Amino acid sequence: MVTAFRPVTLNEALAIRRTHGTVPLAGGTDLMAAAPSCSPGRGESSPSIMFIGHLTELRQIRMEQGEWRLGAAVTLADILDHARLPAPLRQAVADMASPAIRNVATAGGNICNASPCGDTLPFLYAQAARVLLCDSGNRRELPIERFIIGPGKTALRPDELLTEIVFPAREFVVHRHHKVGARRANTLAKLSFLGLADMDAAGRLSDIRLTFGSVAPTVIRAPQLEQRLCGLPLTEMKHHIDEISAAYDGLIQPIDDQRSTREYRKQVCLNLLRWFLEELIA
Ligand SMILES: Cc1cc2nc3c(=O)[nH]c(=O)nc-3n(C[C@H](O)[C@H](O)[C@H](O)COP(=O)(O)OP(=O)(O)OC[C@H]3O[C@@H](n4cnc5c(N)ncnc54)[C@H](O)[C@@H]3O)c2cc1C
Repeated sequence: MVTAFRPVTLNEALAIRRTHGTVPLAGGTDLMAAAPSCSPGRGESSPSIMFIGHLTELRQIRMEQGEWRLGAAVTLADILDHARLPAPLRQAVADMASPAIRNVATAGGNICNASPCGDTLPFLYAQAARVLLCDSGNRRELPIERFIIGPGKTALRPDELLTEIVFPAREFVVHRHHKVGARRANTLAKLSFLGLADMDAAGRLSDIRLTFGSVAPTVIRAPQLEQRLCGLPLTEMKHHIDEISAAYDGLIQPIDDQRSTREYRKQVCLNLLRWFLEELIA
């Protein structure tokens, strides 16, 4: 038998988490899919779950001091419906699952599930997002790349909940998101690529962010490589594409699995990178 809690407030949820060590269930779309493997073995105590998807405190989307703050239980459908949220995030969400799943699946669940193919993650890494983590007495903030520490592994403590996702309300002039899967809808990514770029009035690249999903244990972003391109006149970019591509070749370390092969994943990532950089020059 599974014990289930349904707190009315976030404070109540945090108190339950502290005393009962419950598993938070937001939309349940990852948890329910994993349920058979989570069933308790012989002699183990039954798991307890706590519904958090309905908590008003976790359902807010607001802009504060130049930053977006998304409650952890904001659903993917809420993100799609919010026309002012950045286009690359909404596009990534539009490519996720199906409308039925998006109606219940949450932003916080996608992060806490920490899958290498979590589709909101390339955007959040590119925007240097932070997550707000609360227990019943304290709150702390972590950059997303320090929160997700490996496939299915996060820095969440047993008495904490992820409550908010924070990122700059910053739009980029050029943004390209590609999710490559077996089909257009309801499919997990074989790989994904997000490129964001801004140019200054003198025709130089003033900012660039490049992220790759599903091709390493966590999302790949390499700010030191991005920095090599920043400040370059676009006319000179073509001289740097081979060198940058070779550097990412070393970073992209996909695996073979039922969705794809490592060779395909790496080659398509490098093609998308080259395509994006060449498009900036054109
Ligand atoms: C048919 C189908 C298609 C899918 N397609 C995609 C896809 O295209 N792309 C993609 O990225 N994913 C996909 N998914 C996976 C899933 O829908 C997403 O990862 C979703 O965002 C998970 O959110 P959730 O609220 O349902 O998470 P849940 O299942 O409720 O939780 C996931 C994990 O996060 C923890 N958790 C949730 N919220 C919190 C919180 N606030 N604080 C602490 N821990 C928390 C839970 O305890 C659990 O460990 C798909 C799933 C299904 C079933």
